[in-house]
Amino acid sequence: MSDIIQLLPDHVANQIAAGEVVQRPASVVKELLENAIDADATVIKLIIKDAGKTLVQVIDDGKGMSATDARLSFERHATSKIKSADDLFKLNTKGFRGEALASIAAIAHVELKTKQDDQELGTTIVIEGSEVKSQEVIVTPTGTSLSVKHLFFNIPARRNFLKSNTVELRHIIDEFHRVALAHPSIGFSMFSNGTETYNLPPSNYRQRIVNIFGTKTNEKLVPVEEATEVLIISGFVGKPEFAKKSRNEQFFFVNNRFIKSAYLNHAINSAFEGLLKDGAQPSYYLNLTVNPQTIDINIHPTKTEIKFDDEHTLYAILRSAVKHSLGQFNIAPVLDFDRDANLDTPYSYEQKGMPSVEVDRSFNPFKQDTPPTKTVASSSGGSFSSPSFKKDSGANWDGLYVGLESKGTKTATDFSEIHFESQPQTESFFKNENEVEQKQTTYQLNNKFIISTIKSGMLVIDQHRAHQRVLYEDFLRHITIKEGVSQQLLFPLELHFSNQEIALINQLKEDLESTGFIFQSIENETVQITGVPVNVPESEVSIILEQLISDVENEVPDSNFSATDLLAKSMAKSLAIKTGQSLTNQEQEHLVNRLFGCKEPNVSPTNKTTFVTMTVDELDKKFM
Ligand code: ADP
Ligand code: MG
Repeated sequence: MSDIIQLLPDHVANQIAAGEVVQRPASVVKELLENAIDADATVIKLIIKDAGKTLVQVIDDGKGMSATDARLSFERHATSKIKSADDLFKLNTKGFRGEALASIAAIAHVELKTKQDDQELGTTIVIEGSEVKSQEVIVTPTGTSLSVKHLFFNIPARRNFLKSNTVELRHIIDEFHRVALAHPSIGFSMFSNGTETYNLPPSNYRQRIVNIFGTKTNEKLVPVEEATEVLIISGFVGKPEFAKKSRNEQFFFVNNRFIKSAYLNHAINSAFEGLLKDGAQPSYYLNLTVNPQTIDINIHPTKTEIKFDDEHTLYAILRSAVKHSLGQFNIAPVLDFDRDANLDTPYSYEQKGMPSVEVDRSFNPFKQDTPPTKTVASSSGGSFSSPSFKKDSGANWDGLYVGLESKGTKTATDFSEIHFESQPQTESFFKNENEVEQKQTTYQLNNKFIISTIKSGMLVIDQHRAHQRVLYEDFLRHITIKEGVSQQLLFPLELHFSNQEIALINQLKEDLESTGFIFQSIENETVQITGVPVNVPESEVSIILEQLISDVENEVPDSNFSATDLLAKSMAKSLAIKTGQSLTNQEQEHLVNRLFGCKEPNVSPTNKTTFVTMTVDELDKKFM
C-alpha cells in the first residue's frame, strides 16, 4: 500500500489552531489587547461592532512593526517574544506562542495597519482566511491598528454556535476588564456600536477599579499588601458587607496576567469565613507577583490557568494577608476586640455575626387589596417565627394566597371541598387523631416540607420550590399581559451599579416595567426607581435586581436566555419563602392551594420536583 500520511497545509493547520485560541469574539479581543500591551502601548482603543461578530478592532500607539515583521506576524509560530526554550521560564510578555494572529487570520477578514516610530511610512496588509489579499505602503500613525471582521466567515458551524450579542458582548467586556485592571498605567477606551462604553485614563490601581466598577466601589475597597520572599501581594478586597451574589468582581493577576484559580479563590473564601451572608461572594482584585521561574503558564492555550511550584505556601500567605487586612481595617463593626491574638482565628464572628440586612422575603408581591378569604383565620395572625421576618409582615401573609382569582385563572376554588381551618401551630400531630383529621389538613416538617392529606393518601410539598412556582407564574402572567401594578415610592430609590450592570438592567427594563417597576432614569451607574411592584418592599428592591443581574450573568454559558422567563424565575427565587421558615397552618394551606392553582404545579421554575405523593396503598405495603 502507498503511504498515506501527509502534512496539513498551513491554512488548515491554522484553522485547527484557531479552534483552540479563538472560541468567540472575546478571544480575539484578548489576543489583540495583549499584543498591544506587549508592544508597549500607552493608549489602547478597542472598537466593537455587533458584539464583535462584525468587527473587533484594536488601535495602539505602541512600537509598531516593520514591513517584513508585519507580513511575518501572520505566520504560525512567528513571535518576537521568545527566542529559545529557556525564555519560556522567564516570560514577562503576554504572548509567546506566536499563534494568535495566524489563527485569527485563518478564520476572519483581517486588516493590519502599522508603523514604527522611526519610519515615515507604514504597512497595510489585508488577509482573508489565511490568504494575503494585499500588502501596501501607507501613511498611518505610529503604532498598530488591527481590524478583525466577519469572524468565522469560513466556518459557519462556529459562527452559528455564537451566542446572542448580549452574551458575546459580556464576554468581551469581561476580557476588557481583566486586561484594563492588570494595566492601570495604560489608558484604555472601548467603543461598542459607536458609543463609548469605557474611558479609562492612566491611573493608579484603586482609581482603575473605581473607573471600571463605579464610583461607589471606592468605599468598599480594603487594601491588601504583603511582601514575602516567594510572593508579593498587592491589591484590594471588597468589604464583606458589600459582597454580592455574583462572582463578577473576583480577579487574580499573576505577574500582570489574569488567571483563574479555584484553589486560590478558596484561600480568599476561607479568609472571609463567617463574614459573608449566605451565597454572597467576596470581591477581590489582587495582584500576585512571583518569580516567573516558579510558574508554568504554558499549560493552557488561552493562558488563563497556570501552574505554581508551591501552591500550598501561596494559599497560606494569601489567606493570612487577606485576613490581616480585614482585621486591620476593622471591617466588621461588631469586632470583638478582646480577641485571641492568634492570626488564624482572629475574630469570633460566629457569635457576633455580621449586622444582617433585615429583609422581608415572605410576601406575595401581587397581593391585591382584597379582604382575606374566609379560610384565613385571624387567631394565628400569620406570624412567622423566623427572626428575619418583620413584625408587620403578618398582614402580607394574610393575603398571600388571595388574588390569583383574577382573569379566569384556575384557582384555589378547585380545592374548595377541602375544609381548612387554622389551628395553633403548637398542636401536636398525634394529639387527637380524629380532631386533627377534621380540622387540620397540613403540617410542616422541619420548616421545609408541608405535608397535606389527600383522598388517596398524602402529599409532601417542598415549601420553597412550591412558592417559587406560584410566584413565577404570577410574574410571567404580569409580564406577558403587562398588568403588573405599581406602588409609587414616596422618595425615588437610588441604586448604584457598574456600567455593565446598568447595561443589563437597560435590557430588562421593559419586562421589569411590566411587573410594576417604574424607572425614572437609568444612567451613569445610577438607577432611579420611583415605583415598585405592589408589595415588593423597598428594602428588597436592590436584592432583587442584584439577584437578577447575577442570574443573567450565570445564564451566560449555556443558553440564549429568554429575558422574560429569566426575570420571572429570578424574582420568584428572590421572593419565595425559604427553607427553614416556619409557616402557620393557614400559610401552609394557602400555599398548597396556590400551588395547585398553577399551570404546572409539579415542578419548580427550574424544573425541580415540588411535591411527592404517597398513597394509602403504598403505605399499606410498607406495613406489610
Ligand atoms: P505572540 O503574541 O504570541 O508573539 P501573535 O500572533 O499574537 O503572537 O503576534 C505575532 C507577533 O506579531 C508578535 O510577536 C509581535 O512581534 C507582532 N505583533 C502583534 N501585534 C502587534 C502590535 N499590536 N504591535 C506590534 N507588534 C505586534
Ligand atoms: Mg499575541
